[in-house]
Formats: sequence, C-alpha cells, structure tokens
Amino acid sequence: MRFDVLTIFPEMFSGYFGESIIKRAQEKKLLKIQVHDLRKWATDKHHKVDDKPYGGGPGMVFKIEPIYRALNGLKIKVERLKLRDKDTRVILTSARGKQFTAADARRLAKYKRVVIICGRYEGVDERVAEHLADEEISIGPYVLTGGELPAMVMIDSISRQVPGVPGKLE
Ligand code: SAM
Repeated sequence: MRFDVLTIFPEMFSGYFGESIIKRAQEKKLLKIQVHDLRKWATDKHHKVDDKPYGGGPGMVFKIEPIYRALNGLKIKVERLKLRDKDTRVILTSARGKQFTAADARRLAKYKRVVIICGRYEGVDERVAEHLADEEISIGPYVLTGGELPAMVMIDSISRQVPGVPGKLE
C-alpha cells in the first residue's frame, strides 16, 4: 500500500515513520510512505502556499493551486472526481471532518493508494474539500495546529490493517 502526504513540514514524519513496525513494513515493501513538501508546487520565488481566504474571513488558508498541481504531479485525477482511479483515495485532514474510527482504518486499507493533505494556519481553501478531496477526516473533537499528527495517526492505524504489517494477523 502506498501513502502520499502533502505537508509544509515533511521533516516531522521521518522520526515516527523511521522506527518500529512502520519502519519494518517499509523495509519489507509492504508500505511505501512518500512525504512531499507542498512548497515544491508553489510558483513564486518565496514558495508561498497560503493566502487570504477566497470567500473572506480571518487568517490565512492554503491556496487551492499548489494542492491542485501537487495532485496532478502525483498523477492523481483532479479534473473530475468521478473519474478518479477507484484504487486511490484523497483525504483532507480537517477538524470539522467525519471522525476517524477503526472502521475507517479497515475501509481505507482496501485502497492501493491513500493521499493525505495536511492543512495549517486557518485551514485549507474550501474548494479543496469541494473539488479535490474524496473525504474530510478529523481524528477527534479538538483543533490541532496542523494535519501532520492526524496524517501520522491515520497512516499508523490504516497500516495495521495491511496484511503482514503487524506481524501476526490475529
Ligand atoms: N480554522 C479551522 C477550524 O476552525 O476548523 C482550524 C484549522 S487548524 C488550526 C489547521 C489544520 O489542522 C486544519 O486545516 C487541519 O488540516 C488540521 N487539523 C486540526 N485539527 C484537526 C483534527 N481534529 N483532525 C484532523 N485535522 C485537524
């Protein structure tokens, strides 16, 4: 199973995914976890990925354009959600999303590829949830500063459902 994570803090992932069961699962090629710096898909010289909310409101949100280009660059269908490869799922981390459960971990482990978008600041341009993501997921009824911990929590829990990752299935 492959995970792609879009974040502006890719270094946060190396510690957690470089240890223990998840590390061994990658070495055994049961999992492939690719963490991408979203700034790679910014087009200005300062690699800016945030802007004032399109529809107004306080703070800054991630712009849709770098996320759109990132998904395109990762060869994920972005033009029409209905045409997206049925083996791929794009998740937007969001405090207002559906709360993640063990059933979601089992369900998502059936996909070959799961892409997780980690928000920051005041969140992510609303159009990402509307047009680019398949679902919005929260890991609990509280607000964190970013989607990186939620991405790690979900990847950890989904990975445990992949045969061979926890060692013994039972
Ligand atoms: N203004 C947003 C709100 O009121 O919901 C909060 C944005 S939060 C400071 C920044 C980012 O952290 C969000 O875009 C999301 O990616 C992530 N995040 C925060 N809490 C989360 C949670 N409970 N579950 C999943 N993601 C969360």
